[in-house]
Amino acid sequence: MTPLAEMIRAEIAAHGDMPLSRYMELCLAHPVHGYYTTRDPLGVSGDFTTAPEVSQMFGELIGAWLVATWQAMGAPRRFILMEAGPGRGTLMSDALRAAQKVPEFIASASLHILETSPVLRQRQSVSLSPYNPIWHDDLTTVPDDAPVLFVGNEFLDALPVDQLRRESEGWKQVCIGLTDNPAEPFRYTMHSASQNLVDLIPRRLMSYGVGDIVEVSPVLNQFLNTFYQLLKKQSGAGIFIDYGYRHSDTGDSVQAVHRHHPVSIFHAPGEADITAHVNFENVQNRALSAGLTTHGIATQGEFLRRMGIEYRAQVLKRNATDAQIHDIDSAFHRLTAPDQMGNLFKVLAVSSDPAITLAGF
Ligand code: SAH
Repeated sequence: MTPLAEMIRAEIAAHGDMPLSRYMELCLAHPVHGYYTTRDPLGVSGDFTTAPEVSQMFGELIGAWLVATWQAMGAPRRFILMEAGPGRGTLMSDALRAAQKVPEFIASASLHILETSPVLRQRQSVSLSPYNPIWHDDLTTVPDDAPVLFVGNEFLDALPVDQLRRESEGWKQVCIGLTDNPAEPFRYTMHSASQNLVDLIPRRLMSYGVGDIVEVSPVLNQFLNTFYQLLKKQSGAGIFIDYGYRHSDTGDSVQAVHRHHPVSIFHAPGEADITAHVNFENVQNRALSAGLTTHGIATQGEFLRRMGIEYRAQVLKRNATDAQIHDIDSAFHRLTAPDQMGNLFKVLAVSSDPAITLAGF
């Protein structure tokens, strides 16, 4: 059993079955044994790969989007460039390299990073050192006196979710309980759901059938509400890219991945990544409720094509070796093809100014 499994076991033994969101939070973010706390999970030798790690084209096109959006905002001379959960910092490093073509953009930006993992902060301090980033644990310490440009790639999917299950007698909450078997110590249990979670279920799904699961995330909602208020107050725009669904729906999307293979979420707690698909309708509706304008929801494939990924690939291939051409083609395919990341990943942008047009949508 991992040290974290022992701790979770003790917490359940002392306090009773644990909501799924608490289990996910401990597995990902426990201050000593959490998955992100203890490692850099990205890349071939890690557990999973993300779009910026697949190809520099991804970060470069986000860079083009950031510059175009900054210009549409009236090119403010001082603004906060914020990324949530930058991983290795690859996306931002590629984006800022591409943005060098517009030196006023670079000169006007101050880089702020939301990151909880000390290991990944260390990696980011290397990859982003020319830009003197300032790190934050959460949004409360971000300066409140300048417009904001935000990017979050595969950030929302790392926030803990709760699951509610429709039973004949009403909604139940999915929790984690103990077994008698030390080799497989955890199991799912059902408990009566707290009203504040039931209140988060989209109305359309309230009448669904027995056995259906709905995922809700107070942590994600809290993040979005705070972020959207900040954007409304300080003005600006942001872009979320993540795997998820366009319309609220039922289904269990919580998944664990260990060394590029799917595993049970009970497998080696703290040593496997756990994510949930993002409900983009919720991300969009909260923006609209906060008085922001939304753009999208596009698929990643649509967004990258509109941002000119085909042209970018051609330019890169001009001076490339045969092996590099092969790599560029396969990265292009991976990022855009419907059966790869092209359709599953969605893109939503939000802006405080309803009048601006944003590239890519
Ligand atoms: N955006 C990167 C990495 C995605 S992995 C990429 O595309 O490659 C998820 C990232 O979110 C990691 O950097 C992780 O440490 C960070 N993260 C997870 N939960 C977080 C939280 N609550 N606050 C801030 N960062 C978080």
